[in-house]
Amino acid sequence: MLNIKYDLVAERKAKPDWNNLGFGKYFTDHMFIMDYDKGMGWHDARIIPYQNLSLDPACMVFHYAQEMFEGLKAYRTPVGDIQLFRPDKNIERMNNTNTRLCIPHLEPSDVLDAIKALVSVEKDWVPVLDGTSLYIRPFIIATDVHIGVHPSHSYKFIIILSPVGSYYPEGIKPVKIFVEREYVRAVKGGTGFAKVGGNYACSLIGQEKAEKLGYSQVLWLDGIEHKYIDEVGAMNVFFVIDGTVVTPALEEGNILPGVTRDSCIKLLRSLGYKVEERKLALEEVIDAYNNGKLDEAFGTGTAAVVSPMGLLDTGDLKMIINNGEIGSVAQKLYDTLTGIQWGKIADDFGWTVKVD
Ligand SMILES: *Cc1c(COP(=O)(O)O)cnc(C)c1O
Repeated sequence: MLNIKYDLVAERKAKPDWNNLGFGKYFTDHMFIMDYDKGMGWHDARIIPYQNLSLDPACMVFHYAQEMFEGLKAYRTPVGDIQLFRPDKNIERMNNTNTRLCIPHLEPSDVLDAIKALVSVEKDWVPVLDGTSLYIRPFIIATDVHIGVHPSHSYKFIIILSPVGSYYPEGIKPVKIFVEREYVRAVKGGTGFAKVGGNYACSLIGQEKAEKLGYSQVLWLDGIEHKYIDEVGAMNVFFVIDGTVVTPALEEGNILPGVTRDSCIKLLRSLGYKVEERKLALEEVIDAYNNGKLDEAFGTGTAAVVSPMGLLDTGDLKMIINNGEIGSVAQKLYDTLTGIQWGKIADDFGWTVKVD
């Protein structure tokens, strides 16, 4: 067990309006924090009142972006329990990101202990309304005070929590997606597979461009040939072509290995769907569309679970997918995954972990 010191607030903040939570706007009463120093390893795990950080302006994170993060949720079940969904996958990915950024590894059981302890202290912040949850944001920053490019010798690992509203308060609406041909988010050998702030900083410009044109997200193509499909916004992407479910493969390291992506693949295979993980050229999707064989397209991620694409604009062609409606594969995934996450249907995969 991770040894955690507690310094709890005397008085809790007023809770927000549970009907208008939005995403990432409210934060709970406490945060978890643990330090790393060379020679000492990770030490001083503590849960303290949510507060500002005081950092030297020369801290390396501000200059060279040695920073990583994760994202998962705690869900309230119908009987009032609180559970996590596959936290082991997030923790494993966290250490893969750490390897890529030269950040020291965390002991996986310590991370799970820290998440459970913090969520337990904040259990009254896990909302009960349909579709709502408590978003968990672990992250690490490099804190060496030094203007010089090298891996830091000191870090802070922090976890903050935010109660979030239903992603689809008015029901699932398919979104409009713009194919980005100028900017890229990742290349083979880069950091695409890692959850790092820098990947987001460099994708903002594409996102802004798409929004100005009236689209909600960008479809990212590979960084070398601008030919193969990588991801959609900050989600993994699936296409249903002539009854077969196809999603880009992870091998080249330019795609974020989503926990939702993996869960969708396992679930679909267990239901008897044919799922292919492979390179998928945009041309192949266009051909399928022109031949009437593009059945569905959707993104997957922790925030939305499943986000169907109603329109995909390649620049030359505006493809209207499944009449702009959610398809049966996306609907099945959404219903089953959210059912398991919120404890409304049996978890045959053993994916949920109780917080007590
Ligand atoms: C986090 C993330 C995803 C989705 O991962 P999940 O584990 O399913 O939430 C997909 N793409 C990118 C770029 C991401 O950062």
